[in-house]
Amino acid sequence: MLRGASLRVTRPRVAVLSAVHDKPHADTASIIGAVRTELGEVSHQAVYDVLRALTTAGLVRCIQPPGSLARYESRVGDNHHHVVCRSCGVIADVDCAVGEAPCLTASDSHGFVIDEAEVVYWGLCPACSTAAA
Ligand SMILES: [Zn+2]
Ligand SMILES: [Zn+2]
Repeated sequence: MLRGASLRVTRPRVAVLSAVHDKPHADTASIIGAVRTELGEVSHQAVYDVLRALTTAGLVRCIQPPGSLARYESRVGDNHHHVVCRSCGVIADVDCAVGEAPCLTASDSHGFVIDEAEVVYWGLCPACSTAAA
């Protein structure tokens, strides 16, 4: 994957990419934790730099629902959406609502050529809705 994106293959890059792959929607702190388990001491800045490089290269997607920390995932390029729990912040993937990206047709495009719609669904996850009941 890294070679395909013409990024040099380094151990931190491989470790960050596999951490994001193993734990979709992980925040930076848990990615740093996973990378440290793998490689030992790695600076926050190094992990941030790798995440930025991977995001720029399109290998990783950064999502940031309002009020949430930045989360990273390796499922890129399909314009899927997210459902976020208002209580515990857990995030799950939701496939395109209808057809291909952008799966929501804007009521007025204002002449823009639109290629993406970012939709965040909010609610309570099963664990939290059971606890609230
Ligand atoms: Zn929840
Ligand atoms: Zn996702």
